[in-house]
Amino acid sequence: MTEKIELTNLSKEELYEEIEKLGEKKFRAKQLWQWIYFRGATDFSEMTNLSLDLRNKLQEKYTITRPKIVAEQISVDKTHKWLLEFNDKERVEMVYIPEKDRGAVCISTQVGCAMGCKFCHTGSQKFTRNLTVSEIVGQFMVARDAYNEWPSPTDETRYLSNIVVMGMGEPLNNLDNVVKALNIITDCEGIGISRRRVTMSTSGIAPRIVEAMQKTGVRLAISLHAPNNTIRSQIMPINDKFHIEEIMKACAEYQQGDHSRYITFEYLLLKNINDKPEHAQELISLLKKYKIRALFNLIPFNPWPGCGFAPSDRKDVEVFSQILEKAGFAAPIRVARGQDILAACGQLKSKKSQEQKKLKTTRAIKLMV
Ligand code: SAH
Ligand code: SF4
Repeated sequence: MTEKIELTNLSKEELYEEIEKLGEKKFRAKQLWQWIYFRGATDFSEMTNLSLDLRNKLQEKYTITRPKIVAEQISVDKTHKWLLEFNDKERVEMVYIPEKDRGAVCISTQVGCAMGCKFCHTGSQKFTRNLTVSEIVGQFMVARDAYNEWPSPTDETRYLSNIVVMGMGEPLNNLDNVVKALNIITDCEGIGISRRRVTMSTSGIAPRIVEAMQKTGVRLAISLHAPNNTIRSQIMPINDKFHIEEIMKACAEYQQGDHSRYITFEYLLLKNINDKPEHAQELISLLKKYKIRALFNLIPFNPWPGCGFAPSDRKDVEVFSQILEKAGFAAPIRVARGQDILAACGQLKSKKSQEQKKLKTTRAIKLMV
């Protein structure tokens, strides 16, 4: 028997072609798309406006799969973290960070990450593979299932309002699948998250930045974390391949001629490494030199066992922020969320695999809510 085709791996065009191949009219494909992405259906038998014959054919040839939830935790501040498992038992994390009347879902793009940033827990785990389109889109669908947000309510009542591609993995190293997944997520006849509400973060794969932004139309964030190549190369090995200057040039090219394109520079403050006033001054000169319109997101470091870094003192973080703000850059200090549930990227996965080593059977993995 030939293997069933996973429908959530297909772009809209591909799904339409697939259904037309079954001898069905285009509007049937449109209805199917809406069942999957507007209503969140996972079972063909629910799709009552499709003929029984078509539902049976779909059942025979296709699947609509969600990643499996193997563990989840909810913090006292309502930050919600899931450990998700795919068909081949590989796992990634997803986090929902609620604000007062909205919130962002942080999704992963790879199992592990090959970039090996020294401060990052995911970077300390080996890179295994890219996520498929289905696995990327499926994460957000799991969150919608959990918060009962099908079909898409209006923006006013939507709690899962934003997406940040800031989970495990480097999205620009899995660009084809990420582009396809974001096009599905932002399609207005389906999940319908506006491109302005999606932010993709990269560690700075300079030659792919412009292409990635052209193909997705989402917002850009750069994990900068250092004002010069010496410091950046110490903490981010990828900097040896793509220097800060190359990243800045790509950012300037992306912004050319479009004043609405602001870039967020993420800046993790590591004690005695990149957190001094002279580093803030150097950052200002750098952005001015390349005429980049940007804001900073100052991130308090979330330490993990064996990382070898410490978070900066609060006072130093505040001074750093003030220097940037005086120069005209917004530089809010990110509030640490989900501290009690190890919300830094990669930590739940590591914790679970250590536990798993101790336990004899995977059945012993229990929900931690
Ligand atoms: N690979 C992409 C996107 C995922 S990482 C990138 O690097 O941009 C998303 C963010 O998590 C990065 O800005 C990274 O610096 C941050 N991060 C990683 N480890 C962290 C830690 N221990 N504490 C706080 N933030 C961390
Ligand atoms: Fe990968 Fe981003 Fe972590 Fe660096 S910070 S190791 S690029 S996930």
